[in-house]
Amino acid sequence: MTEKKIQKRLFGTNGVRGVVGKDLTPELVFNIGEALGTMRSGCIAVGRDTRTSGETLTKAVKAGILATGCDVVDCGILPTPALQFLVKDDFDGGAMITASHNPPEYNGVKIIESDGTEMGDEETLKLEEIIFTHSASPNAWNQTGQEFLAPHLIENYISGIVDQFPDKPGAGITVVVDPGSGPACLTTPRILTEMGCKIIIINGIMDGSFPGRLPEPSVDGLKSLAELVVSSGADFGVAHDGDADRAVFINEKGQFVEENLEFALVAQYMCQQKRGTIVTPVSTGQIVEIVAKKEGCSIVYTPVGSIYVARTMRELRGEGKIVIFGGEGNGGLIFPDHQFCRDGGMTSAMMVFILSSNPGKKLSDLLGELPERCIIKDKITSRDGPKILKSLISAFSEDTIDQTDGIKIFRDNSWALIRASGTEPIIRIIIDSENRQVGQAFYSELKDKINLNIK
Ligand code: MG
Repeated sequence: MTEKKIQKRLFGTNGVRGVVGKDLTPELVFNIGEALGTMRSGCIAVGRDTRTSGETLTKAVKAGILATGCDVVDCGILPTPALQFLVKDDFDGGAMITASHNPPEYNGVKIIESDGTEMGDEETLKLEEIIFTHSASPNAWNQTGQEFLAPHLIENYISGIVDQFPDKPGAGITVVVDPGSGPACLTTPRILTEMGCKIIIINGIMDGSFPGRLPEPSVDGLKSLAELVVSSGADFGVAHDGDADRAVFINEKGQFVEENLEFALVAQYMCQQKRGTIVTPVSTGQIVEIVAKKEGCSIVYTPVGSIYVARTMRELRGEGKIVIFGGEGNGGLIFPDHQFCRDGGMTSAMMVFILSSNPGKKLSDLLGELPERCIIKDKITSRDGPKILKSLISAFSEDTIDQTDGIKIFRDNSWALIRASGTEPIIRIIIDSENRQVGQAFYSELKDKINLNIK
């Protein structure tokens, strides 16, 4: 079974996001805290990334939660997966103040359930309803919650990863770490050092103005990291987004590792350890399915969004299925024996472990052994998304079509995914094919059929 996608009013795929002071005010964040406290009881963990607005908004969400009688444990600055790890073990819920990969002027809130996963659509709709109908229930003056400070809890997350890799597998491996001035400054260098790696750090001082690069770990933004990997002779470089639930890599030659290749390399390793199922959105590159099937494993596809992946993984495990791995083709990988959420620190540690398990091979060698695929991505500006998608279903009626999220058209060894954005007048296209020639032909045919329907 796969989690279905429901459109929400306030929350997007990964929480609420907006420009601070404009779309995202302390008042809104207070209301979110109050709604969360109304829905839950007990003790809620709160954390934040390094954004300049983080302190204000953390105080707002805490005030909302405390007003309803829930207690709050403030874990301070830490990666989103660190807060999720702590919530899973010890709390009744969590609220993370972060805008992930968005620029510095943005911030947001991710709500975490007691099992460590992000709040699902059904519960989020209830939370939104409380906010829009002003039906939160603050407690009387003598029944408000208590706040506790616990910045030391981040240590539990670090040891929770390091303890999975005993015997210092990182000995002899040099890694350049780029936490991008975000909360991973406190975690990834420590994790890799304790695994035995030699560490070089760039953008390693926490700073919400992000002076070295933007929170999105893009090819352009990681040029300094790539140069440092080459000049230092490191084995690889790793960079995180603004809340370190994603990790992307630079190989020893200074080349950016496309995230579907990263996913495929880790998936291949996980499948070789144990046969089972991998869960991923329909947008993930075909390369992941190819390596999984080669190792005798299967794939379950979900709508686009890590929350659908995480919750589907958890449900499948609940049904007794062997779910070994999951994630997205953007560097957001989920290790279910560790926790049911994307984890950039864990992904960094796993990359060290995979390299150490292949002595004599460089990261570029391992990537070079993966099958080759060609991915073409494009987006078209149009308000007619739903109409165009409908017309494509009949235009490609001879082909197999999947409608898990948007439409995915399969032809021979290729596919095209066409999705209309829920928030912008944009249609996103991905073509995944064996080679560029086949991909271009498929893309031209698709584009012709879309143009017929664009006003
Ligand atoms: Mg993120």
